[in-house]
Amino acid sequence: MKAARIIVDVPARQTDRPFDYKIPSKWEAFVQVGMRVIVPFGPRKLQGFIIDIREVEESENMKLKEVEELLDLTPVLNEELLGLGFWLKEETLCFTISAFQAMLPAAIKSVYQKRLILRNETSNELQTLFGEKDSIAWKDLPEALYRAVKAAIAAEEIEVVYDVRDRVQRKKQRVIGPAASKRALEELAASVRSAKQQDVLYYFIENHQEVAAHTLKEELSMTDAPIKALVKKGILYEKEIEVYRNPYDDEQFERTKPFPLTVEQQAAIAPILSTIENEQQRTFLMYGVTGSGKTEVYLQSIEAVLQKGKEAIMLVPEISLTPQMVERFKGRFGSQVAVLHSALSAGEKYDEWRKIQRKEVRVVVGARSAVFAPFENLGIIIIDEEHESSYKQEDNPRYHARDVAIRRSEYHHCPVILGSATPTLESFARASKGVYELLTMTKRMNEQALPSVEIVDMREELRKGNRSMFSTLLHEKIADRLQKQEQIVLFLNRRGHSTFVMCRDCGYVMQCPHCDISLTYHRATQRLKCHYCSHEEFLPKDCPACQSQYIRFFGTGTQKVEEELTKLFPQARVIRMDVDTTSKKGAHEKLLTAFGQRKADILLGTQMIAKGLDFPNVTLVGVLTADTMLHLPDFRASEKTYQLLTQVSGRAGRHHLPGEVVIQTYTPEHYSVQLAKKQQYDTFFEQEMHIRKLHQYPPYYYLTLITVSHPNLLQAVQVTEKIAAMLRQKCTPQTIILGPVASPIARVKDRYRYQCMIKYKREPGLKEVLRFINEHYQTAMIKEQLQISIDFNPTML
Ligand code: ADP
Ligand code: ZN
Ligand code: ZN
Repeated sequence: MKAARIIVDVPARQTDRPFDYKIPSKWEAFVQVGMRVIVPFGPRKLQGFIIDIREVEESENMKLKEVEELLDLTPVLNEELLGLGFWLKEETLCFTISAFQAMLPAAIKSVYQKRLILRNETSNELQTLFGEKDSIAWKDLPEALYRAVKAAIAAEEIEVVYDVRDRVQRKKQRVIGPAASKRALEELAASVRSAKQQDVLYYFIENHQEVAAHTLKEELSMTDAPIKALVKKGILYEKEIEVYRNPYDDEQFERTKPFPLTVEQQAAIAPILSTIENEQQRTFLMYGVTGSGKTEVYLQSIEAVLQKGKEAIMLVPEISLTPQMVERFKGRFGSQVAVLHSALSAGEKYDEWRKIQRKEVRVVVGARSAVFAPFENLGIIIIDEEHESSYKQEDNPRYHARDVAIRRSEYHHCPVILGSATPTLESFARASKGVYELLTMTKRMNEQALPSVEIVDMREELRKGNRSMFSTLLHEKIADRLQKQEQIVLFLNRRGHSTFVMCRDCGYVMQCPHCDISLTYHRATQRLKCHYCSHEEFLPKDCPACQSQYIRFFGTGTQKVEEELTKLFPQARVIRMDVDTTSKKGAHEKLLTAFGQRKADILLGTQMIAKGLDFPNVTLVGVLTADTMLHLPDFRASEKTYQLLTQVSGRAGRHHLPGEVVIQTYTPEHYSVQLAKKQQYDTFFEQEMHIRKLHQYPPYYYLTLITVSHPNLLQAVQVTEKIAAMLRQKCTPQTIILGPVASPIARVKDRYRYQCMIKYKREPGLKEVLRFINEHYQTAMIKEQLQISIDFNPTML
């Protein structure tokens, strides 16, 4: 007799442990660890994951509840991923179930429906409720009948069942095929009377193979009837097959061949190839300027991995996962590539994931969560643009893809490559210490010069009486490019640039009623929106505080820049890319394609245009305000500014036309701006490391952020104070506990947020202390709406 240990989908501290269930004998033969099941849990039926199967005595088995449903015929989590799940739980202090779910596509999180089935005669009133149907959904049950239904359940007249289905259905397609030989079809065609049926027969005489029903009907422009008639006669057969939703049509990608590598590329790839060959674990930091040929090195490393019969994971930040990027991988490896990113529908993601699981592909190109791709024979994991903060998940489990990648590479004995033109200080410091191996690429392909960068002091512009968002220099250069019919990219930093609405008389700023943040004005809908809780309201006609009519919007959102651009350059065709214009599926790609086809002169946008784009005709890049990011309350502000300016500059002059960059700033003397202009990462690294050391920040110290939130302000403060006190008592004296202080946004969705920060060099007992704190507040978290979140190495402060 067999019993299963199961992690059930109840994300709560006291249930974060496995539960035992008996396995019905009909499944004993093929049930495996890593499969999903449905189990009874109290009054509910819930999904769970089998983590262990063991033989048990009859006497013990008797006491166990039974697994109700087996959801998989092949495990969705293999041994490695199960282990990785437990590791994630320990690393991030999340619930085991959350760790498992994070590794799988959302589509396979099942949904349940509680249904009532009529088994026997019952009271008239219930009988009427069912009518002709033999089952009804619980949610459709009128409340007045609850008591009667309960009684009927007790009397076994009505049974309660749970329908379980995956959130996304597999896509099915009806296909038609010939059930007789060509010769037989020819004979039939001669004798059959219906002209339509004859057409169908001739079709199959010519193409003696299966075809999709809809294709057949389209080609012969006919209805289903003649086809059905032939199926009925047994001349044709029909069946349903599963098809994948294919977000990328493979035909579109022209196959490319590997380039002969340059000397620099050869030097970089050699140690990677030997690591692949010797099946070792090594982590490389590939520090190479934009355009130095990093991607080509990735491609050829993957090629070597495929040669060895192994698989590859290629991670790319969400915003760089453009069609151009996909094309480079599909162009080299064709249909061996699966793509995973958030612009795909849940169904498409599910299908791409299953191609991986069924070993139908051997390369995945994807955003953060693709690091969990269920390959069983990994030969390499590459993380491009490793400095991108999107590699850290900001929700439970708060993992960093880099840590997961290194963990997996230890299991598979394979290399990890972290690539960047502007590595994080953490990674570069590790490379300097020899923890990672540094590979350097300093030359741009074809000896292209880096674009020339000019810095414009916007304070000077004001002094000269120019109040526009465009300096005289940038204005001139835009006019020049428009005249030469070359293209321009204008970059506006979104963070710190919300378009808020303020009263010019009394200074009142429209705020979200639920969050401590000003509302953002959206011109298209004339509405004000909160970007934290999605509260929306109409723009008031007059000021809610003083009734003045001079209530106006401020700030320079992309919409406002677009307006000014059209005023200054009425003839220019502008494409604007921001959250508003790219929210629809596929919109992002459409806009970029249009720009690539030169249907516009100027591409104006936020972060999302900063990287990955490669347009040969762009010769001018303008950064409207370089320093908005510098003033954020974030110790990484300088680092992020340096990265961003470097990245944006890399967009200009990638091909035969020389590029120019204009950076407008209010702090031209800042070292981030100056060193980005000169492209001196090494100097920047040294200077910034010095500051980090001085202020006790990473990479010299580790950080852990604890955020407490509660609908009641006093509660939030008191709990945070108590947590800080506990930490001070239990941590070593060298560890610094900062706080409690209000979070940068002190109220979100009507909850007050307080935080404390732990800075430490070594604190081996920290996890233990934090686990203790979690347990201490367990009841309050369930009963009193208290939330405590723990974030190791937070990326955003
Ligand atoms: P990065 O990823 O560092 O920005 P890429 O790999 O995109 O650099 O290379 C920049 C350009 O140079 C691309 O158009 C690429 O196809 C081309 N390229 C890369 N390596 C070679 C090579 N060895 N010979 C010729 N062209 C190359
Ligand atoms: Zn809000
Ligand atoms: Zn007012």
